[in-house]
Amino acid sequence: MKIPDIIIAIDGCSGTGKSSFARALAAETGFLHLDSGALYRAVTLFAQERKLISAADEVSPGLEAELRSLDLRFGPDNRTYIGERCVEREIRTMEVSSQVSPISALPYVRAFVDGILHSYGRDGRIIMDGRDIGTTVFPQAQVKIFMTASEQVRAQRRFKELEAKGESPVIGEVLENIRRRDRIDSTRAASPLAKAPDAFVLDNSDMTLQEEVAWARGLLQGMFSIR
Ligand code: C5P
Repeated sequence: MKIPDIIIAIDGCSGTGKSSFARALAAETGFLHLDSGALYRAVTLFAQERKLISAADEVSPGLEAELRSLDLRFGPDNRTYIGERCVEREIRTMEVSSQVSPISALPYVRAFVDGILHSYGRDGRIIMDGRDIGTTVFPQAQVKIFMTASEQVRAQRRFKELEAKGESPVIGEVLENIRRRDRIDSTRAASPLAKAPDAFVLDNSDMTLQEEVAWARGLLQGMFSIR
């Protein structure tokens, strides 16, 4: 499919399948997929490893200064790196998931991550997924998609993902983590999770990934008069 050099912003709650959808759409369009949540997760891992966040989610004010030494980026393989270290696996654990929302609510963390995200958007041809891409990071994105799915479906998906990675998740805890993150993400003062007024809604509770991609193909074909 030949589409112009645009930015596609995909936002939505935890566990709506944004990353899987964005990856599949990247394969379809040839665009680069960037997962903004990975950067918030990597900042969380960094804070945990440096003991800058307590078990009660209290963040040390020292984190702001420490971020200056954090060399965070997407590598050529599109994975998340801290310096030369690939942290793609470590950032997907429940331990990181359970503390990422308080970290990502901090305005200086958001400014830090936004700086990295903006450096990738200059030439278009990217698909970025997150919570505030269509509203704050790239409000000028030509295509915005807001994903939703029922809470139960989302919890089941995360549960299976964690199981496949060899973790032993408990469904009640996964559901609670999703609810808690939704609550913090949508009520925080800095760039809360919200649907941009011009975003198209995709509820994928009862859709396969192939159906989602077919939906997006139809959307792009219609918007850019592609046959
Ligand atoms: O998408 P994922 O679940 O990996 O994101 C992890 C967390 O990062 C979210 O729960 C949210 O707190 C934060 N996030 C954010 N803004 C984004 C992307 C993720 O606040 N654009």
